[in-house]
Amino acid sequence: MIMYRDKKGRAHNLEIQLNRDYPNSPPSVSADVPYMFTLEWSTSSRLKDVMHQFQKHLDYLQEFWSVLDNIDKSLCVVDVKQPARASAIRRIDAGNDCIIIVHIDFKDPKSLPESRFIGPVPSATHMNNLHMLWRRNCKRWSNERSFPENLECILGTELPKPLGLQVEDDQQQVECGICYAQFLPTDEELGARSGTRTDYTCENISCNKSFHSLCLTDWLRSITTTRQSFDVLFGNCPYCSDPVAVKTSNK
Ligand SMILES: [Zn+2]
Ligand SMILES: [Zn+2]
Repeated sequence: MIMYRDKKGRAHNLEIQLNRDYPNSPPSVSADVPYMFTLEWSTSSRLKDVMHQFQKHLDYLQEFWSVLDNIDKSLCVVDVKQPARASAIRRIDAGNDCIIIVHIDFKDPKSLPESRFIGPVPSATHMNNLHMLWRRNCKRWSNERSFPENLECILGTELPKPLGLQVEDDQQQVECGICYAQFLPTDEELGARSGTRTDYTCENISCNKSFHSLCLTDWLRSITTTRQSFDVLFGNCPYCSDPVAVKTSNK
């Protein structure tokens, strides 16, 4: 058994069994991929060729696994905690006890998946509704969008999120009131702050605007009425004009 890490750091196992007349006959291999992993083998082939071929399969399947990982991360996948890497099927909670079963095509993982809708009798209306929306809107499926985005766009509804993600999700939607981005750009000049979320919130509860302290500092510095005491800037919130105080930190 050999363990591999692919480009995204996912672990994959490859089981190799040498037959008695190896290397005249190929070793038996079994791998967690969504199809039969067949070896190309000649009498001059060796184990390193097996590894090499396996690596090629992993490279080929990167997009397929990225789509599935994204589903597992952002939607409520039922039944299986840790689906096998070979599995191309996901059962997704669609609310009201309904489940959408999707089959991701490993040859074209970003394309519209095959789907089935199941649910108990009391939820039949909800289920028929989802099914109808799917049929009507599946033309809107776009390879440009992520799988969860596509699904929610087609069904015109927000799907249940995995437990523990909701809280984080709310946080993620906090945009800076000055640069309007959630995250600072990734930039060497910003050092440790590169790519960080907003870290300052106006204390006036009815305003409650969030900012990157870096953006707020820059903004306060551009205002003539701002005062500075040691490394703290005192000024007013750009939204509600209540006093704000931001520690300036050396970049
Ligand atoms: Zn900002
Ligand atoms: Zn404010």
